[in-house]
Amino acid sequence: MFAMIMFALLLALVAIYWGFNEYLYGDPSTASFFLSVGIATLAVSTYMMYQTRKRMIRLLSVEMQPVSSTVQCVKCGFKNIREFKRGDFVFKETEEMCPKDSQKMVISAIYREVKDKEKAKEMSY
Ligand SMILES: [Zn+2]
Repeated sequence: MFAMIMFALLLALVAIYWGFNEYLYGDPSTASFFLSVGIATLAVSTYMMYQTRKRMIRLLSVEMQPVSSTVQCVKCGFKNIREFKRGDFVFKETEEMCPKDSQKMVISAIYREVKDKEKAKEMSY
């Protein structure tokens, strides 16, 4: 995708260069054709680059969101949510003890916390 945009940008620059060349040494109508094609391609590729950048940022922010594990007591069902630890998997027995009956707790769920920045902004007002 990025290579395609770079190619389009290069194409735009070449078209603009040809346009100037025609303008100086050749036919002005051919020149304006090349210039308009060049500028249009430049505009489209710049827009595409901007869109790709936005998507990349969104993707990165999703990657950065913390992963949580829910540990649950098999006896009384007490739940505790904590940060995901390396090696965690669903139904794994943990070293954590239930604060109510000192039973071993099992991981019942692993999920990524999705934080909606827009919603958080709205709520702060
Ligand atoms: Zn318990």
